[in-house]
Amino acid sequence: MNQLQKLLILSVLIFICFPASAKKLNILIVTGGHDFDRKSFFEMFDNFQEISYTELKHPEANLQLGTISLKTFDAVVFYDMPKTISEAEKESYHKLLKAGKGLVFLHHSLASYQQWDEFKTIIGGKYHEEQNSPASSTYQHDVNFRVKITDPKHPVTKGVTDFEIFDEVYGNTEVLPEVMPLLLTDHPQSTKIIGWMHKKENSRIVYIQPGHDKNGWFNPNYQKLVKQAIAFAAAK
Ligand SMILES: [Zn+2]
Repeated sequence: MNQLQKLLILSVLIFICFPASAKKLNILIVTGGHDFDRKSFFEMFDNFQEISYTELKHPEANLQLGTISLKTFDAVVFYDMPKTISEAEKESYHKLLKAGKGLVFLHHSLASYQQWDEFKTIIGGKYHEEQNSPASSTYQHDVNFRVKITDPKHPVTKGVTDFEIFDEVYGNTEVLPEVMPLLLTDHPQSTKIIGWMHKKENSRIVYIQPGHDKNGWFNPNYQKLVKQAIAFAAAK
């Protein structure tokens, strides 16, 4: 047996013995429109053994979402906050929803596209940026708050019990009545529902409000929620 044959047999054995590695989820991570600590954020995803990712950055990201082959990815994670969107870019979202791609939105993505009303129905809520209005949402950095799990059996939250996190809270945000709440908090400066899932067309959508910086990203409970949200959304 020559070296090449040995290598081939070894590769086949590895494939048979570790089928999980073959089932790695491929995700797209959309960023841009809001500053963040890139190094720590991607460190979180680098440590997710079961996930590999490709980053798409605004301003190109939205058109790329519409042209990239649907077969090449399982779900999209949004950690972006762009202000505007063109009609052509909206079509990318319609294509993802029609195809049933799982969409996971994190943190400040709740404030994206303030003027695009349909976006609220995709993500399931809205951080209202309008100033000096009773509808204005608020934020508070660096607070300790308790995250309560509504359903310990749900695929997004299974294995996670109520936990403390040091992160940013949003107050007076809008949460659409049709979403299924997954995460709650009783912090006085926060909206009560801080995580949910819902379906839009053929897609599973999950939103998780915490995740401002590494205090959240490096919280093991947060990481478990993000991983499970991706797996749940990708599973359709
Ligand atoms: Zn933030």
